[in-house]
Amino acid sequence: MEGEGSVGAGGTAQAQQAAVIGAGPAGLMAAEALAQAGVSVHVYDAMPSVGRKFLLAGRGGLNLTHSEPLERFVTRLRPKAPSLEAAVRAFTPEALRAWAEALGVPTFVGTSGRVFPVDMKAAPLLRAWLHRLRASGVQFHMRHRWRGWDDAGHLRFDTPAGPRSVDSAVQVLALGGGSWARLGSDGAWVPLLQAAGVAVHPLQPSNCGFDVAGGWTPLFTERFAGQPFKSVAMTLGDQRRKGEFVATTTGVEGSLVYAFSADLREAIAREGQATFLLDLLPDRSEADVLREVAHPRGSRSLSSHLKGRLGLEGIKMAILHERLTREAMHQSAQLAAAIKALPIALAAPRPIDEAISSAGGVAWDALDASLMLRDRPGVFCAGEMLDWEAPTGGYLLSASMASGRAAGEGAVRRLCNGAVTI
Ligand SMILES: Cc1cc2nc3c(=O)[nH]c(=O)nc-3n(C[C@H](O)[C@H](O)[C@H](O)COP(=O)(O)OP(=O)(O)OC[C@H]3O[C@@H](n4cnc5c(N)ncnc54)[C@H](O)[C@@H]3O)c2cc1C
Repeated sequence: MEGEGSVGAGGTAQAQQAAVIGAGPAGLMAAEALAQAGVSVHVYDAMPSVGRKFLLAGRGGLNLTHSEPLERFVTRLRPKAPSLEAAVRAFTPEALRAWAEALGVPTFVGTSGRVFPVDMKAAPLLRAWLHRLRASGVQFHMRHRWRGWDDAGHLRFDTPAGPRSVDSAVQVLALGGGSWARLGSDGAWVPLLQAAGVAVHPLQPSNCGFDVAGGWTPLFTERFAGQPFKSVAMTLGDQRRKGEFVATTTGVEGSLVYAFSADLREAIAREGQATFLLDLLPDRSEADVLREVAHPRGSRSLSSHLKGRLGLEGIKMAILHERLTREAMHQSAQLAAAIKALPIALAAPRPIDEAISSAGGVAWDALDASLMLRDRPGVFCAGEMLDWEAPTGGYLLSASMASGRAAGEGAVRRLCNGAVTI
């Protein structure tokens, strides 16, 4: 299975041209850029098969990218990193859609502006992509867990056949973030790079759920965990968004929460807790809500009054009972204020392994503009392992793939410029 450039522990061999470690979307894009330039590429991954997280993303419809204007798109990536922005400008969402189309997978823009394959699946796209990569000579080596470098700068792998060392002129690391470890991206590379002197910011959960301070009552958890808050709005600081999220056994998660996850996580780290305001009726004004709440209800119960006049029921009623005293529930001004701006305090993000993605990673200062490690010439980094985060909406895949392409092209330039001889 091994090609040129690979040796058993202790041996020597002619160097490979390019090694890509990590066969997620970023690594595969890097491999493609290298192969398109005529470079011989070997891709290594710890898992038995490629692109496991990419395939999982397909279960949710595979939101490949976003159709909003590029100027807006690049503001979604944080922190602002000029080389990541440059990578996205060089491989735009439009270019990504054309790339998928060329693989026989046309895309469409959903009502939210998000872009999906027409069949909403990841497997056909990945199959076609792998076929094209293999046809262009890319060789895959699965069950190769990267363990760092040896003293000679050779890549060290653990494989089912024992330890293996690989000498490669250029190397692209695309090892992913730190969530969903069972799919391969377990963040175990962090201490390896740190030991090699590379600055890495700690991986942290992003696009994640949160635990509410003090937890929900057992009654609320039992009856409402798993149920959605639909058509609500969240306000944090001066930011307000409409959308939906779900109550979990310990707190909240879902797209609206993910959209605020970076700010919530940072506020919790700073202040120990973060409080957002929940608007249960975002399409009605405060005055309107107060008028309806205060409307005489005769012999009707409060529940049927609020259901009849404002359509409040189910989980929306339950959270009011959960959070307000009995007295406040029967005081029109307080109840109306709570319906429009119910404070929900969050104590902690959920563990990173449950998150959609991770923040933190290889520090931008450690990289040059071509995504090459300044202190390890010839080693490039790409994808979620870099220090950035973005909300859900296709930004994660899009920027991972764009950075993979940029790293691959950087590696091609290094080979072409004769910076390395092979
Ligand atoms: C449930 C879920 C749904 C998602 N849906 C979407 C979506 O719809 N749209 C979107 O934009 N994003 C989505 N994402 C996020 C997106 O999948 C990731 O951001 C993207 O896969 C990151 O690509 P990557 O190539 O950098 O890393 P990964 O895809 O994580 O790939 C990293 C690869 O490196 C390998 N690896 C790690 N360590 C080693 C090692 N030491 N040795 C060898 N190999 C190693 C892993 O096995 C893995 O194959 C979703 C994520 C999750 C969890």
